[in-house]
Amino acid sequence: MCGIFGIFNVEHAQKYAFYGIYALQHRGQESVGIAVSDLADIKLIKRSGLVLEAISKEDIESLEGSIAIAHVRYSTAGDLGLTNAQPFLKETPFGKVALVHNGNLVNYTSLKAELEKEGVSFEHTSDSELFLALLGRGTYVPESISMNPLDEELLPHIFYALSRVKGAYSLIYLFKDKLIAARDPYGFRPLLMGRLKDAVLFASESCAFDILGAQFFREVKPGEVVVVDFHGIRSYFPFKSPRKAMCIFEFVYFSKPESYIFGDWVYNVRKSMGRQLAIEDDVDADVVVPVPDSGIVPAIGYSQEKSIPLELGLIRNHYVGRSFIEPTQELRDVKVLMKFNANRPVLEGKRVVVIDDSLVRGTTSKKIVSMLRKAGAKEVHMRIASPPVIGPCYYGIDTPTREELIACKLNQEDIRKFIGADSLRYLSLEGLRSCVKNYQEFCDACFSNVYPIPLEDESCLSKT
Ligand code: SF4
Repeated sequence: MCGIFGIFNVEHAQKYAFYGIYALQHRGQESVGIAVSDLADIKLIKRSGLVLEAISKEDIESLEGSIAIAHVRYSTAGDLGLTNAQPFLKETPFGKVALVHNGNLVNYTSLKAELEKEGVSFEHTSDSELFLALLGRGTYVPESISMNPLDEELLPHIFYALSRVKGAYSLIYLFKDKLIAARDPYGFRPLLMGRLKDAVLFASESCAFDILGAQFFREVKPGEVVVVDFHGIRSYFPFKSPRKAMCIFEFVYFSKPESYIFGDWVYNVRKSMGRQLAIEDDVDADVVVPVPDSGIVPAIGYSQEKSIPLELGLIRNHYVGRSFIEPTQELRDVKVLMKFNANRPVLEGKRVVVIDDSLVRGTTSKKIVSMLRKAGAKEVHMRIASPPVIGPCYYGIDTPTREELIACKLNQEDIRKFIGADSLRYLSLEGLRSCVKNYQEFCDACFSNVYPIPLEDESCLSKT
């Protein structure tokens, strides 16, 4: 769960990177970093916390250049903290190179151990470092590739690095005079290209282009490597994949509703999940209430399909920060109450259908149901716009272990009792699949337990 951004060929690239990565803040709140090249050197800053609070004016003034990459992190692999904040910067046989990566590698432990045996030392405990550590350690060029002479020196090393890793990656390398972006052959994580006058941009979601007034150009395709330098844009497809496996959870929850990813608008897909949920549902109700923010779009679809009015029965507090004051036993619901409050006038005496995007541990749903009842709801019907989460993610989304997933421990009726709802219904797996184009090209392993890439390392298996 990370956001990445890159821009090539613009004055004050660091400022574009700052705003571009700010637009991707929802993809990671733990740390932020920006690396900038002035064509002679690469400079880097990394900070803990949110973009607007963590990066100062002085930080931005200390980074002057025309090529930049940026990252927001929500850790999925490696320890928390600034040591694993990206971009990573390393001295390589090709000079200084910086890297941002969104995804998760399933052969990190074994590949790292192999490189350590060969004398490679690692500064971080995150799988992303492998992309830099592998540079200069071998070359690979498939026979099918006809290489542009401009790329003959460097790209075989990039192809080699990518050929050694297994798992999910959307990434951008920053060299002093170029960007190289790549997406794994399965295409787990999104990566898009944009244009702004003479500049070329990359971002995890199209909302990062909107904030800069840039135009969406096209998506980086699964298995594609794109080189952008002062000679132009060059594209290669060095790897074949047995299948595509774009992450369907990006549509369920992770991406912003106004973004375009995986050949579709997130808003449209998320709304059709709500519509489909309504088609599969036979409950009678007076009002549809979304759990903000991620339940809002499916609730619109549900409400329109059922012709039941949508009301804001839960109001979200947008100023929630971190509290270090632990609530007492009497105040045990305070954390969820800090986040949401019930809106009594639209709930009192009503049969309420409450819509959330997903149900993972069940603890928040339980508190929401109780909150709606206390505010006078006559009936509370919990509806989830995705199927039960029955498996962890090994490809870059921070889902909990099986022990923490409520649908791995309880059947649907017991979950209903646990959360205290009058009824509980999920969107079916077939229903979810019907909401995307070509569902065979998507990963839905956390809902189906069908994992597109087998797990190789203990570090991954420990999540089972
Ligand atoms: S397991 Fe779930 S969250 Fe992970 S890539 Fe697949 S669909 Fe996405």
